[in-house]
Amino acid sequence: MRLAGEGTVNILGVVFDDVTKASARDAIIAHAKDGGTLAAVFTPNSELVERCAEGDGMLTGIINSAELTLPDSVGIVKAARIFGTPLKERVPGVEVGEAVLERAAAFALPVYFLGGRPGVAEAAKRNMESKYPGLSVVGTKDGYFERTPPAVSDVIENIAESGARILFVCLGAPAQEKFIYENRRALEDAGVRVALGLGGSLDIYAGVSRRAPKLFVSLGLEWLWRLLREPSRIGRMTALPKFYLRCRREAKKQKKRRRA
Ligand code: UDP
Repeated sequence: MRLAGEGTVNILGVVFDDVTKASARDAIIAHAKDGGTLAAVFTPNSELVERCAEGDGMLTGIINSAELTLPDSVGIVKAARIFGTPLKERVPGVEVGEAVLERAAAFALPVYFLGGRPGVAEAAKRNMESKYPGLSVVGTKDGYFERTPPAVSDVIENIAESGARILFVCLGAPAQEKFIYENRRALEDAGVRVALGLGGSLDIYAGVSRRAPKLFVSLGLEWLWRLLREPSRIGRMTALPKFYLRCRREAKKQKKRRRA
């Protein structure tokens, strides 16, 4: 069941919710307060969708298991337009995450930060708790633990003991989506009601990395900003033109099929 009843858009087999930042935040908070089961919130970008479309059916299944999938990147919003099914707006996970923290403070919903290099989650906790009085980040853990059953169980036990209802998982993609997918039952039993895969958001909240300046964002060039700061991403970024061309090809095919 989708968390937000606002319709979906399919991009190369990956389902996105046609939400706004505000409606996504409200759906997450409502579920964190009253939900009886765990809801997963994912934020796949064009690079990840391209990986799915190249034939990684398992990854597609994992991403489509989410209850809410946010169109985090400008590439996804453009793709939706190419397919003739425009989305309401771009919904960056980092912004929804912060909006959720603001509301979590107001409703006394405990939060856990998982991910980032050692020290990052603690710094994010300090910054966010001082920005949003009343916010309770009840636990933190860096994202460099072994992905073996005993190490993962320790992490989940720690989350359970914290009493968190909302879990931010910032391990990078697709590690964070896999972590939530593979541990869904255990996290639910631990009391987590919403688990969000939020990439580098803790780095931003901690102040160890910066979001692109508004000019880059408004020109749709956030990827260029990222590339300038992390040139090692160049290999990964070849996925972006491939994704764009694949969407154009697929949209043309769909148009032809509709005419026939
Ligand atoms: N990270 C982590 N554990 C790992 C690898 C990465 O916690 O084993 C963190 C890393 O410190 C960073 C985030 O995951 O904070 C990756 O963010 P990014 O936005 O680069 O994610 P991606 O674009 O790879 O999804």
